[in-house]
Amino acid sequence: MKSWKDLEPDRYRLLTKNYTPGRGGRKIRYVVIHHNAGMLSIDQIWQVWQTREASAHYQVTIDGQIGQLVNDSDTAWHAANLLRNQESIGIEHANSGGAAADWPISEKTREEGAHLVAAICRYYGLGRPAWGVNVRPHSETGQTSCPYRLGPNGEYGKAYIARAQYWYDQMGSGTTTSTTPVKETPVTDDQTALLRQIRDNTADCRAMLMTLSAQDMGDANITGPYGGWPQTGGRTRTDTLAAIAAKLGVPGTTDTKEN
Ligand SMILES: [Zn+2]
Repeated sequence: MKSWKDLEPDRYRLLTKNYTPGRGGRKIRYVVIHHNAGMLSIDQIWQVWQTREASAHYQVTIDGQIGQLVNDSDTAWHAANLLRNQESIGIEHANSGGAAADWPISEKTREEGAHLVAAICRYYGLGRPAWGVNVRPHSETGQTSCPYRLGPNGEYGKAYIARAQYWYDQMGSGTTTSTTPVKETPVTDDQTALLRQIRDNTADCRAMLMTLSAQDMGDANITGPYGGWPQTGGRTRTDTLAAIAAKLGVPGTTDTKEN
């Protein structure tokens, strides 16, 4: 992590699909723990989730790198149902071996994952990490064995939550509270460039509109607001039309210059 306190991941690799923007007005209440059942890098899990209807907020890799794939402010698709997804943050842990090795998870991955749990509990004011309270195994709903050895009854589970509690205590009470706004991706150089482009385009549009309106209402720089044009006797386009109609005797029309 670049910053535990601000939940700044080592890397953002945000999905463009297979998550739901926003949280339907619900607050983050707990963390859901998963394992990959795979040995995936940040790019690899991004690839999987771009092509499958699933996602989680964070991926902890074999070497302890933490990637963010869905913003905390959005709903990832990792738990049993919509409500669970809206109220939780999903953390995925890469395995360091496959089925033949019974899906081990490296110590580095477990340590960084536990630290992330602590940082999330601090950031969102969820309280000291505890299984079944603010830290839930994916298997809680009974439809999966995930996170397998990392779950509360798995061989890593006890040490994992103990490390999360250790880091939670280390981080102290500080200034972060439950009123901390939901973290969002900071503005990148690309986004700054895009905002600048939008601003410039807006300025161009305004200039064009002023030119168009000046053609109807006269050039304010020359004749003052709504001053009309010299060749129409100081009338705007609308007033010129009215003057012609009045001359032709169309009922209800007047030449503003004769009033
Ligand atoms: Zn899972």
